[in-house]
Amino acid sequence: MIIVLKPEATKNDADEILSRISSVGLKPLYMPGTERTVLGALGDERVLETLHLDNHPLVERVTPILTLYKLVSREVHRQDTVVSIGSVPFGGKHFGVIAGPCAIENREQMLTSADAVKSGGGHCLRGGAYKPRSSPYSFQGLGLEGLELLKEASEKTGLATVTEVLEVSDVEHVEQFADAFQIGARNMQNYRLLTAVGRSNKPVLLKRGMAAKVEELLLAAEYIVSEGNPNVILCERGIRTFETATRNSLDLNVVPYLKQHTHLPVIVDPSHGTGLRELVRPMAKAAVACGADGLIIEVHNNPKEALSDGKQSLYPDEFKSLMNELLPFIAAVGKKV
Ligand code: PEP
Ligand code: MN
Repeated sequence: MIIVLKPEATKNDADEILSRISSVGLKPLYMPGTERTVLGALGDERVLETLHLDNHPLVERVTPILTLYKLVSREVHRQDTVVSIGSVPFGGKHFGVIAGPCAIENREQMLTSADAVKSGGGHCLRGGAYKPRSSPYSFQGLGLEGLELLKEASEKTGLATVTEVLEVSDVEHVEQFADAFQIGARNMQNYRLLTAVGRSNKPVLLKRGMAAKVEELLLAAEYIVSEGNPNVILCERGIRTFETATRNSLDLNVVPYLKQHTHLPVIVDPSHGTGLRELVRPMAKAAVACGADGLIIEVHNNPKEALSDGKQSLYPDEFKSLMNELLPFIAAVGKKV
């Protein structure tokens, strides 16, 4: 439920109502605004009726939250949430680009690719140490050794890092070595994993499952936020359709949809969304134009030899020119890098 207080209600009045909400076992939310304060009560809403808050002299109205997701909903929290990876902000007026190889393959590859991201103007560095590959015979990632290389690349370039966490038992390691967790498309509905990263205070880049509805993505984010971690960035990375010309169908519809229905930042992955290097540039621009708060792009020092996703990885010079071409698009939507 959302409880809108009258303009004359003070912080003490809000606290008194919040403690009554807690006393019946509901989760209280305090959302001060410029004109009036809004309170929230999450849980079994039937018990709220026992408090008769609609008769309270300082309550203007009590309305149900209509969506299944609550904490991530715009209804509950009107202003854009800004989530920072290291010192790089995403959301609101801030636009950021995360780039780097699909997988961390070896020291030279990682450090050279990281240099390409830095000199090309990228803001954060990506690289997978634990890779969820479709085939058990494909390169599965370097694991802990990969995390160490990512950390070294981060220290050399000064770029904050994002890396995928595949299982609950790896959360602790990833937390120690990287600045943000990536939850991949294949794990978007791994609720144990969502709960585990929800108990960390590091930001989480949550990718949409390849057959997940927007509501399911938002409920996955709700798992993380309801555990106490508000730092979630949503990512559209393409969905499965009947089309096979491209690896996935990049569903840019969801960008403005998500921006209307959630306060969380939304970024786009045109690399996995298309699967084809030639399509990354136009779709990156389209993502900016439709309101994305950032991009995640695969860049490899030598895509032809890449152990994973070479066909969709940009060459260093392509990344650099894309970053320059994006600047007027970013300015046109009123955002800044
Ligand atoms: C990746 O980012 O390399 C990756 C595996 O992405 P997704 O989970 O979107 O397939
Ligand atoms: Mn990849």
